[in-house]
Amino acid sequence: MSTVPPSVCCQFCREPLTRTLVDLGKTPLSNSYLAAKDLDRPEGHFPLHTRVCGKCRLVQVEAAATPAEIFGHYAYFSSYSTSWVDHARRFSELARARWGLNEASKVVEVASNDGYLLRHFVAAGVPVLGVEPAANVAESARAAGVETDVAFFGLETAQRLKNAGHAADLLVGNNVFAHVPDINDFTAGLACLLKPDGVLSLEFPHLLRLIEDVQFDTIYHEHFSYLSLLTTERIFAAHGLRVFDVAELPTHGGSLRVMACLAASTAHPERPGLAKVRLDEERARLDQDEGYEGFAPKVTAVCADLQAFLRQAQAEGRTVAAYGAAAKGNTLLNCCGITAEQIICVVDRNPHKQGCFMPGSRIPIHAPEKLTELKPDYVLILPWNIKDEITAQMAEVRGWGGQFVIAIPSLTLLP
Ligand SMILES: [Zn+2]
Repeated sequence: MSTVPPSVCCQFCREPLTRTLVDLGKTPLSNSYLAAKDLDRPEGHFPLHTRVCGKCRLVQVEAAATPAEIFGHYAYFSSYSTSWVDHARRFSELARARWGLNEASKVVEVASNDGYLLRHFVAAGVPVLGVEPAANVAESARAAGVETDVAFFGLETAQRLKNAGHAADLLVGNNVFAHVPDINDFTAGLACLLKPDGVLSLEFPHLLRLIEDVQFDTIYHEHFSYLSLLTTERIFAAHGLRVFDVAELPTHGGSLRVMACLAASTAHPERPGLAKVRLDEERARLDQDEGYEGFAPKVTAVCADLQAFLRQAQAEGRTVAAYGAAAKGNTLLNCCGITAEQIICVVDRNPHKQGCFMPGSRIPIHAPEKLTELKPDYVLILPWNIKDEITAQMAEVRGWGGQFVIAIPSLTLLP
């Protein structure tokens, strides 16, 4: 795997980067799950140094690998998360009502995954096009009746699709904006593919929640940008886009859904939701250095607490397993130096991950049924953002006296 030299300039505005948010050291790529045959080979470790631009305030991680290396065999299938599928269905209902979408409209989704969202528009008779870089995931979408173009999205792809008649009335990007290695090319593509009065709807984790809730485990190599509304408005403005509305969502521990249109469109007046989020970010001083100072020591404290908990469990002869082989779990486990001696296994519903091993920590991944067999004393929930869904699904854990634990924002034994 090629190693790209550390970038010293902001991905968006090209200002030299001199400020650190937190340096998480060197770790393997979060989504590079290992097969049993890979275990005797060394893994590549890449720096996970998060910086904040002093000019535009984009929080960012340098690119450690090429997009093809990161996303070529992407093991994430959106439809394996029940709460995310429900979220998608509600969004499609809301969007069809709000923007009056019908059989004459076109909905395009960038990073459309396995068609978890667009299938709801298809069912309602609204024409769609998905754009998805991972061929195996796109194949699942097509099998579900969602027309899908296999491509990385950027200006070149947008121009090709526009020429092919795919200009969008509604252009959606859920949890992709933060993952693009070239945010300028990507945003230029979004602006290109919109119809003159079309609506762009992007969802991404809110930087304000990351900072206030110590969500450092959402930092990983595949996640290049950590966005506030403030910086998003700057990036959009540079590419002829104007944000006219924003909603705060509970997904991924606190996300923003930003709605934008072409700067020249008069069809979309600014909505009141914008002022509230702008004010929240101003109060958190996200446009000043102070907004970012003090984060790193909080990360150190979270790691120390988890390590102490695992040491104590081991001393008392209690077993600990984990739930959810998600990217964020890998950041937490690897930053804390945790191995299979401390956490016996991770269980996950996604069959593509079962039988593999977590990168770095090399903890084996099994189907959730494995917990019934092992009956661990503690189950550490790695995707803490869906802890309610997991504790409900795995209610039997409490039946054998097991306890659920989360590590973020602070170590908590769930009642
Ligand atoms: Zn910048």
